Amino acid sequence: LADRLQNTMAKIRGKGKVSEADVKEMMREVRLALLEADVNFKVVKDFIKRVSERAVGQEVMKSLTPGQQVIKVVKEELTILMGGEQSKIAVSNRPPTVIMMVGLQGAGKTTTTGKLANLLRKKYNRTPLLVAADIYRPAAIKQLETLGKQISMPVFSLGDQVSPVEIAKQAIAHAKEQHHDYVIIDTAGRLHIDENLMDELQQVKEISKPDEIFLVVDAMTGQDAVNVAGSFNEQLGLTGVVLTKLDGDTRGGAALSIRAVTNTPIKFVGLGEKLDALEAFHPERMASRILGMGDVLSLIEKAQTNVDADKAKELEQKMRTMSFTFDDFLDQLSQVRSMGPLDELIGMLPGANKVKGLKNVQVDEKQISHVEAIIKSMTTKEKEQPELMNASRKKRIAKGSGTSVQEVNRLLKQFEEMKKMMKQMTNMTKGKKKGGMKF
Ligand code: GDP
Ligand code: MG
Repeated sequence: LADRLQNTMAKIRGKGKVSEADVKEMMREVRLALLEADVNFKVVKDFIKRVSERAVGQEVMKSLTPGQQVIKVVKEELTILMGGEQSKIAVSNRPPTVIMMVGLQGAGKTTTTGKLANLLRKKYNRTPLLVAADIYRPAAIKQLETLGKQISMPVFSLGDQVSPVEIAKQAIAHAKEQHHDYVIIDTAGRLHIDENLMDELQQVKEISKPDEIFLVVDAMTGQDAVNVAGSFNEQLGLTGVVLTKLDGDTRGGAALSIRAVTNTPIKFVGLGEKLDALEAFHPERMASRILGMGDVLSLIEKAQTNVDADKAKELEQKMRTMSFTFDDFLDQLSQVRSMGPLDELIGMLPGANKVKGLKNVQVDEKQISHVEAIIKSMTTKEKEQPELMNASRKKRIAKGSGTSVQEVNRLLKQFEEMKKMMKQMTNMTKGKKKGGMKF
C-alpha cells in the first residue's frame, strides 16, 4: 500500500497547479492502491468521495502548493478513517479495572496479554494480574505462566478443570484482595467463530463486567480480520481492537478498515513477538507512514526549496561524522521550522519509523522557542560538550533562558536521543538506499 501510494503522491507533490482532472486521476490511483491493500470496498468508496470533494472544492493555502494541499487532505482523511485521535485505556474508579482479551486462535491473545501487562506496569506504573482462562488449548495456561515469569508478574490460574466463568470470578476477588489495579483475562479462542465460544465469552463478560473488551486480530489476515471484528463486536460489544503482527503486514488494509466498519478504535498494535513489542496506536502517525512521508525524496524536495543547499550538505556531513552540536541543532531547528511541523519532518527521514525512542524526539512547536532560549543560554563549550553539564550549569542555563531545570534536562535528553537516532539512520541509509517503509 505504502509503495503504491507513495508513487502517486510523488507524482502530484511537485505540481504547481492541480486541475480537477489531476485530482480524478490521482483518486483513481489511490482507490486502486487501497483496494489492492485489501481495504473494505465500501470504506474505499466513501473515502474517495470525501477526499475528492475536499480536494477539488477547497481554497488554496498560501504556504502549500496545490499538490501538497491534496496530499494534506488525503492524510487528514486517512487519519479520520483510522479514528482521528489516539484512544485511551480505561481506568475504573472502582479498581480493579478489568480487561477481557478475546479473539480467534493464534491471533495473539496470550502474547498480547503479557505485552499489555508489561506496558501497564512500565509506562503507567500499574500492578496487573494476569488471568489464565483458556482451559482448552493445550499448554495455554503454561504459556501465560511462562510469559508472567519473564516479566515477573503474577498469573492467576485454577488449572483446566474449572470453568472460565468461575476462574474469572475468583480472579477478580483475588485481585481485590491483593490490591491489583488491573485484571487482564486471557480467554480461549477457536479457529472460527462459533456459538459455544460466544456463549462462554458472554458469560465471562457477565461475571467480570469488564471495563474494556479488547479484540485481538491478526493484521496479516486483512479483510478477514475486519469481518471477525464485526462479528465479535455484534455479539460482545468491543471497546477496542489490538492489531497484532503489523510487523509482517505490508498492506495495511485491516488497519484502515476496522474502525470504519466496526466503529471500534484500534487501541494498540503488536509489532513483534517480544514482550515489549506493543505500542499505542496513533492514527495520524500511521497515516503519515502510509502516505510515504517516510520518503526521502519528499524530504529532499522540501529541503531544496527551503534550506540553503550548502548548509544541508554540511549538516549531512556532520550527521555522518557525528560532530553534531547544539549550535547545529539550533541552526537546523530554524531551517526546519520553515518546512513544516517537526514530527512530520522527522517521520520523513528514512528509517525513522524503525528507530526506537522516536517519540521522545518529537518536539512540540510551542516548545521550540524555549528550546532556542535554552541553547542560546549555553556557553560555547557547553554547546559542544553537553557531557559537561552539571547541576549548577543547568540551573544557570534555566535561569538565563527563563525556563526550568526540568526543561533543560528534557532538551539534553532529546538531543542525546536525536544524536542516537541520526546515527542509526545514517547507518541504515548507508546500508540500503530506500528506507524500506513497510507501513
Ligand atoms: P492466541 O492463540 O490468540 O493466544 O495467540 P498467541 O498469543 O499464542 O500467539 C500466536 C503466535 O503469534 C505466537 O507465536 C506469537 O509469538 C505470535 N505473535 C503474537 N503477536 C505478534 C506480533 O505482534 N508480531 C509477530 N510477529 N508475532 C506475534
Ligand atoms: Mg492463547
